[in-house]
Amino acid sequence: RANKSTHGIFLPHLVASLEQVEQTYIMVKPDGVQRGLVGEIISRFERKGFKLTGLKLFQCPKELAEEHYKDLKTKSFYSTLIDYITSGPVVWEGVGVVASARKLIGSTNPLQAEPGTIRGDLAVQTGRNVVHGSDSPENGKRETALWFKEGELCEWTPAQAPWLME
Ligand code: ADP
Repeated sequence: RANKSTHGIFLPHLVASLEQVEQTYIMVKPDGVQRGLVGEIISRFERKGFKLTGLKLFQCPKELAEEHYKDLKTKSFYSTLIDYITSGPVVWEGVGVVASARKLIGSTNPLQAEPGTIRGDLAVQTGRNVVHGSDSPENGKRETALWFKEGELCEWTPAQAPWLME
């Protein structure tokens, strides 16, 4: 909950309790990197007002991809999914960011994703749907811990914070 500071400016990021601050793990998938969409995708989250706390580009090891998608192990597309996932993760942090990021991303199948969403605007097939976003706050934490070591995340205060939330 946001409180007023002594100067009458709201600083929700300073007063939100730790439980309120959600973390989501956003990954630009290999097709998004190959197609030069990294900037476009990051830009959409930036413009929305989310705070970027960690970013890295690397080739994803198979074991990490398998751990990330362990809930889908029994699916028929599991092995092609693991083959597909190889690089380019980013993390975004903020209040209510998980559900909001899922909306910005759009449905898993780009054919069903609304125009205006990342997948609705930029993708055509489920197996090449350019981006990943955590589906719950719990998974946001789990996936962030999986893909980033502690020292790789950056804590900072965005100057625009009081203009985004009252
Ligand atoms: P989301 O990424 O929207 O959370 P899921 O967790 O259901 O979707 O699936 C994870 C990823 O697995 C999808 O983003 C997509 O890349 C891949 N996937 C899901 N369903 C299929 C499918 N039927 N065929 C091929 N790949 C799929």
